[in-house]
Amino acid sequence: MRVSIVGAGYVGVVTGACLADLGHEVALADLDAEKVAALEAGSSPIYEPGLGELVARLAGERLRATTDLASAVAGSELTLVTVGTPDGEKGIDLGHVVSAARTIGSVLAGKPGYHVVAIKSTIVPGTTDGVVIPLLEEASGKEAGVDFGVGVNPEFLTEGRAIVDFQEPDRIVLGACDERVHAALSTLYADFPATVPRILTNTRTAEMIKYASNALLATMISFSNEIADLCSAVGGVDVVDAMRGVHLSHYLSPTGPGGERVPAPISAYLEAGCGFGGSCLPKDVRALVAEAEGLERAMPILRAVLQTNAERPGAMLAIVERELGEISGKRITVLGLAFKPDTDDVRESPAVPIVRKLEAAGAAVTVHDSVVGVLPPALAGLAVKLVEDLGDAIRGADAIVIVTRWREYERLPELVAASDPQPIVVDGRRMLDPSSVERYAGVGR
Ligand code: NAD
Repeated sequence: MRVSIVGAGYVGVVTGACLADLGHEVALADLDAEKVAALEAGSSPIYEPGLGELVARLAGERLRATTDLASAVAGSELTLVTVGTPDGEKGIDLGHVVSAARTIGSVLAGKPGYHVVAIKSTIVPGTTDGVVIPLLEEASGKEAGVDFGVGVNPEFLTEGRAIVDFQEPDRIVLGACDERVHAALSTLYADFPATVPRILTNTRTAEMIKYASNALLATMISFSNEIADLCSAVGGVDVVDAMRGVHLSHYLSPTGPGGERVPAPISAYLEAGCGFGGSCLPKDVRALVAEAEGLERAMPILRAVLQTNAERPGAMLAIVERELGEISGKRITVLGLAFKPDTDDVRESPAVPIVRKLEAAGAAVTVHDSVVGVLPPALAGLAVKLVEDLGDAIRGADAIVIVTRWREYERLPELVAASDPQPIVVDGRRMLDPSSVERYAGVGR
């Protein structure tokens, strides 16, 4: 199919490259001329394992990029909208979706034939029917369901494994205003094996599936962190041991065909840590709570999920304080800026509030990340040093705080062994064996 994709961010570029790889003709459109130039030159504007190779191979052929949104839409039969939906004052900010819908609508005004517009951005239930369709109809002077079709195709990729997630989806959710849109979207994904479940539903249900999925993951994380803090308070309990026992329930580790126990991937969300971040979970849970408020639903569980998460940086600081006594004047190295490993995304990373709190408490803070090469804007102006080499970053530190589970940090025991005196290692991800360093402190111990 000839597909235009509006918004060349994480979701847009991954979707575009993978669809082009499947044989579709893809035009990525973005307002950001730098991203477009990078894509046209065959390089990915974001770091994601495997994405650089795909873009390099397909750019200029089945994968094009342009700042001319109108021509991209005009030259396609189906448009996917993948613009950002950040936090707004009350719920999500639909500004980018609104502006994209207006431009697409104005192109549809003069475009002959049937065209499908599908929203891939995460938008709260009811947005497609209540906001997107009226805008498209107004700008085009045409009728949805008659002259053009509208759908919702939420994206479930996880940064750091986005290509695999796209190529091997666990489900394909296709929300639509009518059968014709279901058919067009089904054609887009026709090459995926028949064993991949397709959920053909209405637009609101498709929107809700995405939010309920993310809200569940965030709930698991905050639940685990609440249990971790209780383990510390009780004493004599390590949350890692406690959760291992929980994971072995047959609900979480069913028995495989050979009698072996197979841990469900959801177990990864049932581990102690320093909180969830990124561009999705925090803002999506906030958006759902805000939407519920408008519908006079209190959502006490999801509110508590956010509250528990907001307290994680303070909990990390408390561990450092407990171990060092006084933070002021101490040299502290924070390991990891990305909100999770295998991505360079620092949006809402727990590292930011942790670094800010340490700096405010008077520590001399050094940071390191395996991929992120510049300090996030939220840390600009602070006396924080970003050091490229891990060995250099931890040299002379009084405390090392692990925030991102980068593989490289598995080398820490070997690197700190030579330090004299030994720094305290505060493991915010419980990734090291506590006996592997002389002075170890972890969340939930
Ligand atoms: P992003 O900020 O990385 O990319 C959005 C892009 O849209 C930017 O490049 C921006 O320049 C462009 N843009 C904004 N307005 C535009 C317009 N009018 N015309 C053309 N381009 C425009 O965002 P993202 O992380 O790719 O997320 C996009 C959406 O997908 C969001 O709703 C997000 O919640 C959802 N989502 C993200 C992920 C993820 O892991 N990043 C996963 C699933 C769903």
